[in-house]
Amino acid sequence: GPERLPREKHGIDRRKVSRHAIKVCEVLKKEGYEAYIVGGAVRDLIVGLAPKDFDVATNATPEQVRPLFRRARIIGRRFQLVHVVFGQEIIETATFRATADGDEYTDEHGRILRDNLFGTQQDDAARRDFTLNALYYDPLSEEVIDYHQGVADLKKRVVRMIGEPEARYREDPVRMLRAVRFAAKLDGTIDPASAEPIARMASLIEHVPASRLFDETLKLLTCGHAMDCLRQLRAMGLHRSLLPLVDQIFAEEGGEAFIELAFERTDARVRAGKTVSPSFLFAALLWKLVNKRWQALCAEGEHKAQALVQAADMVMEAQTRKLAIQRRFQSDMREIWFMQPRFENASARSIWRMLEQPRFRAAVDFLQLRAEAREVDSVQAQWWMDLADADDATRAIMLEAYQ
Ligand code: ATP
Ligand code: MG
Repeated sequence: GPERLPREKHGIDRRKVSRHAIKVCEVLKKEGYEAYIVGGAVRDLIVGLAPKDFDVATNATPEQVRPLFRRARIIGRRFQLVHVVFGQEIIETATFRATADGDEYTDEHGRILRDNLFGTQQDDAARRDFTLNALYYDPLSEEVIDYHQGVADLKKRVVRMIGEPEARYREDPVRMLRAVRFAAKLDGTIDPASAEPIARMASLIEHVPASRLFDETLKLLTCGHAMDCLRQLRAMGLHRSLLPLVDQIFAEEGGEAFIELAFERTDARVRAGKTVSPSFLFAALLWKLVNKRWQALCAEGEHKAQALVQAADMVMEAQTRKLAIQRRFQSDMREIWFMQPRFENASARSIWRMLEQPRFRAAVDFLQLRAEAREVDSVQAQWWMDLADADDATRAIMLEAYQ
């Protein structure tokens, strides 16, 4: 059976637990059901990180859960779960589920197509990805239920696949990316047996739907340890299906350093609990290549602004052949890039127009990044930064003095 660890063995501080998640567990238990906080929240609480959100797992079915709460709705078609709403916070409440065996549940690559069977808590633990993601916390008894020695792995910061790694990656290749992300986020390692198949199986990523891959890539770049993730992706060959241009960018003079500078800034924001714009991240990631093509086209005599549009098209096309970036992010990236030459010789009149552009602030941040990378003059970048931060009256004075 599972290990049941008392407070001293896992050290979760109950005050850090969402009171709404505790409430959901309380209500379910009072009705005679089992209910636990599960997954990422338990993992993060044990290592002292702030959980992003709280999920609850229970043996009650969605139809049994919903009427117990004033604001609750059943969501999902295939596998239903209940969103219990408390103001801004949603507690996702899912019924224990099992993995179905057999060919009818997988596609020709062995990927799981159906996982919509209810099961026991033990089944539910076994279908999760890593041992440190399969922990159940009872906020009332303050016990952690651990079927796979996840707490021990977590304390060692080892990301270890539950079950047979190769088969689990085949079921869902995204788990390879998740392994990289959790190892980076926990400042740990992937267990050798769980790491070993990845380089061999990396190309399976290509069969994953693009929208899911994009989401996972974004999570890798916004987990607060983006550079670690990127280096690890490269080391395992996982970047080829996601960010195919990264090799070329790293081979450029200053290419790796530019990405590192950009990621340091965004990591710092993530760790301070601020948001990071996906367009800024991808704009920075691809910039060195855009810049190189741009300079080359200019050298061939192409008009400056025109050349930049062409360079952006070429790079974007090469990226999206592997992993499509959502349209709205693509257009924001272009706006950030296309404003760069306009910082250099703007007239006072055109500056007022630039100020009205929705991505002006992001474009100035990007200019600042380029200044840090010694691509543009830092005094000039600072002037634009000050302009972006100023109120309209101050802006008018700054532009009066500008020639
Ligand atoms: P975070 O929210 O910080 O990204 P998380 O661990 O909460 O991390 P989620 O994607 O929110 O990740 O998933 C919640 C839980 O569901 C995980 O902790 C894990 O137990 C399980 N899980 C998620 N994705 C998979 C997967 N691809 N294969 C197996 N189990 C998964
Ligand atoms: Mg989560």
